[in-house]
Amino acid sequence: MSLHLLLAPAAVGKTQHCIQRIREINRENPLAPIWVILPNNATAFAFRRRLARAGGAIGVHLGTFYSLYEELLAEAGQLVARLDEPVITYLLREVAVELHHAGALNFFANIHTLPGFRRALHAAIQELKRARIDPNDFTHWAQGRSARLRELARLYTAYQERLLKSDWADGEGQGWLAALALEHDANLARGWRLLVVDGFDEFNPTQLAVLKLLSARADETLVTLTGDSRERVAHRRFVHARAAIESVLSPCLPVSLSPSPSTTPIAQIESILFESASQKIPVDNAIQFIEAPNRAEEIRAALRWLKARIVRDELKPSQVALLARSIEPYRAFIDETATEFGLPIHLSEGANLATNPAIAALLNLLAVSAQDFSRRRVVDAWRNPYFDWSPQEIEQDDAERLDAAARWGQVVDNMAHWQDTLARLEKINLNDESVEHDDEVLDAPTGAIAAALAQKFFAFAKRLAPPIRATMRGYVAWLEQLIGDDPGLLTEYERESDTSLHLVRCARASAATRDRDVAALRELKNVLRALVFSETAFGVAREIAFVEFLTELRGAIEAATYRVPPPDQTESILAASVLSARGLSFRAVALVGLAEGEFPRATTEDPLLMETDRAALNLAPRLSGDEVTFFYEAVTRATEKLLLTRPYLADDGQPWEASPYWEHILGLVDAQPSRADKSIAPEDAASETELNLISNAHHASAQSQVLAARMAEEARGQFEGDLSALRSRLAQHFSPTHPWSASRLETFGTCPFAFFTAYVLKLEPRPPAQAGYDVRQLGTMYHAILETLFRAAPDPTNLDALLTALPIVARKIFDDAPETYGFRPTALWQQQRSELERILADTLRALSEASVGWKPIHLELAFGKDDQPPLVLRGDDGKEIQLRGYIDRVDVNTAGELRVLDYKAGSSSITKQDLDDGKRLQLALYALALRDALKIGAPVAGLYWHINAAKASSLKLEKYPGGIDAAFERATTHALSHVARVRAGDFAPHPPDGGCPQWCPATAFCWRYKPKE
Ligand code: SF4
Repeated sequence: MSLHLLLAPAAVGKTQHCIQRIREINRENPLAPIWVILPNNATAFAFRRRLARAGGAIGVHLGTFYSLYEELLAEAGQLVARLDEPVITYLLREVAVELHHAGALNFFANIHTLPGFRRALHAAIQELKRARIDPNDFTHWAQGRSARLRELARLYTAYQERLLKSDWADGEGQGWLAALALEHDANLARGWRLLVVDGFDEFNPTQLAVLKLLSARADETLVTLTGDSRERVAHRRFVHARAAIESVLSPCLPVSLSPSPSTTPIAQIESILFESASQKIPVDNAIQFIEAPNRAEEIRAALRWLKARIVRDELKPSQVALLARSIEPYRAFIDETATEFGLPIHLSEGANLATNPAIAALLNLLAVSAQDFSRRRVVDAWRNPYFDWSPQEIEQDDAERLDAAARWGQVVDNMAHWQDTLARLEKINLNDESVEHDDEVLDAPTGAIAAALAQKFFAFAKRLAPPIRATMRGYVAWLEQLIGDDPGLLTEYERESDTSLHLVRCARASAATRDRDVAALRELKNVLRALVFSETAFGVAREIAFVEFLTELRGAIEAATYRVPPPDQTESILAASVLSARGLSFRAVALVGLAEGEFPRATTEDPLLMETDRAALNLAPRLSGDEVTFFYEAVTRATEKLLLTRPYLADDGQPWEASPYWEHILGLVDAQPSRADKSIAPEDAASETELNLISNAHHASAQSQVLAARMAEEARGQFEGDLSALRSRLAQHFSPTHPWSASRLETFGTCPFAFFTAYVLKLEPRPPAQAGYDVRQLGTMYHAILETLFRAAPDPTNLDALLTALPIVARKIFDDAPETYGFRPTALWQQQRSELERILADTLRALSEASVGWKPIHLELAFGKDDQPPLVLRGDDGKEIQLRGYIDRVDVNTAGELRVLDYKAGSSSITKQDLDDGKRLQLALYALALRDALKIGAPVAGLYWHINAAKASSLKLEKYPGGIDAAFERATTHALSHVARVRAGDFAPHPPDGGCPQWCPATAFCWRYKPKE
């Protein structure tokens, strides 16, 4: 029994030494049993490949500690099934729920069902098991301590009891059982010729116990560790690992490698990392630094550099790697950029299953019926390319039609509202000229199209209807039928189901995302299998509601990860976290994310096992300061070339400081960082897209012109609403016979670009459908009630009679309002009606006071419509415009003088300044129409009446400086000027002082947008 500890710095040939030793033994005795234990599957894969290249060796078992445990248990005849992660997750949830029901969880009561709690609980239990702390011992230890620890002990005990009852184990439990099997059976694992343990930087107590027993039986044990004779900060973690291994494998015979003198820059850096250096190391191009504005650009720079290593340095993809302290924040950028650059890449860590687009789409779809057919979810489901709705005859444009119907019918999330809306639309006949239709109904499907849409909608709802109650197995069977088969797994005799959504087939349709989505959907099948297995394995199957199934499914999916298989792992670039890449070696490495808080990572206390608990239990501390060693391990993964990158702006655009490690290594070498935001030379372009961007000078200059225009303080120019190039077409469209309304002119006066988007581009704002009336519908109801009331009144100046008639008139209009004006009343509708009636009564009283001596003679008086002549305004240049509209009310006094009133439902005040600025023209133009178009007479007064506030506006035509004629002149000048600017194509945006109005269709994209104050 010989025991050797090979201690040497990184990258000086420890693994090579192990391979040589294996080959020597293999040459002596080709059948000699040899075991090699490695930290993870990636290092096992790399070791196997190197061994094969060195000539190979038969009889070599190669794997991780977990595979070793399984083999030992199998040899010992203990067939203990190891549970998958989804099953463990389900079991932990079951255990937590049972304990909570039994009143045994108070401290964790509010979080016991959360996926995050299950993850933390799983990690804590695994750690206790690795330390071989038995549930009974832990319970005993937790007595008299905090509620957190006592409840953790209950959870651990209950979890372990459930495993034992069913003869199952988790990964750490297998290690524990393997150690016990070795202790009880002295012949187990006898006769091994060589045991190699390579690439580790830590050992847990179970691993140490197993190694102690195995090394006592193997002829020879060889353990490699990074380190040297010096005490180095960079080796902090290795020092602990060495102390741990020497405490159980003593006495270890030291083996030394004689490293060649540090000649390469990376080898020199290795020797002085985290030490002080007297002079800077010249690195030429062996070590480079790039600063990028953000993570996306950082990944572009890193992958471009790696592609250059493959193309220019002729390295193989497997000889280069992309590393980060945590790969997760970079995952999406890596996927996207590697695809663009045509680089074969494989990520060593799995992605969270819930983040896969196909799975997210499915979870959203399942929530449709649970959320009573919410408009957003239904329309999204109809648009979603992952679902095939052809059995329901749903076509591409149907999602838009359904959305328009929902907006028209104000459907938010209620099946009854869908039914009602589609039935109402079906009854609408747009060819019936006796009925006036609003603009929105013209967008929504009507008549036969609405009827067909209704059929599709109900077929959709039927297909999605889950069993009301079912066992887990029942729900999983229903879901699997919904998802459909994987065409890639069907035999030639099998056919896909006709009634499924063909989710896998749809996912296969896109070459760019096929592998990713199919891998995720296959993992979903594993999750579903685990749910069924858990139900039957851990209890009697019980029927549950669909919502409960959905919660279970979502929790299991959130806890699961999936991995996209690389096209060819031997010839693809590894993208991995620094921890996953320990023990691996590459000729070139790009290490990204050297930003403050990112690397070294800011570590926090474990919420379940805090540092003081860890110290008392003899567990490894969490805040151990191992980051220096991780950085040492990251840097030394490269043997020839190393790129270090950092983002200098955080996700929120704030400056992001460099990592102290970045500063440290920059201080050691004779090199300066370059900036990734500088333009790249054509020969450095890594994709066709990049090349096009570089070579398309016109495109680049257009981009910079757009940017400069947007950044300019004053909006002007062709990228800021200057459409003068189209002036002849605009003049043709807005010709002298074009009918104008005062509100359109006011829109231009408020912001020319808002007018352009609304009336030239004809865009419409798309606010989400909401139940209840909006301010426009409120104004229409007010107008209708006041008009009906005054028209029907024998004496419209008799306030008492008006107030008596108000409830009857209001009731009739309110009763019909939802149908007439197209809104869906909320539960508050009855209270709202009472409140609106009170407001109208108050306004009638105040209006009566403000109208002493005046009497209404015209209501809703048309000009430019209903065969009435338009108001024609003529400019000095002889150009004309025509206006039309309805005057709310015209009053006459005993002297026969006229007054014009315009009702306003909104609460914004209207002042003289608004007319001066050309933003409020309606009242003056309507008064002018009374005189010049209808020729009823020249009004002497005019006011806006604010119905809600029950008062007149401060702008009164008769009080305008210069009198009412001056107001007419001002309004006319503005109206003519607005139209002249429209015809000239002058639409530069000008956000209103108080902020941009919600009705502006450009608010979603306008770069001059100013929020409401
Ligand atoms: S968002 Fe504001 S600035 Fe832009 S067009 Fe609309 S109103 Fe004008």
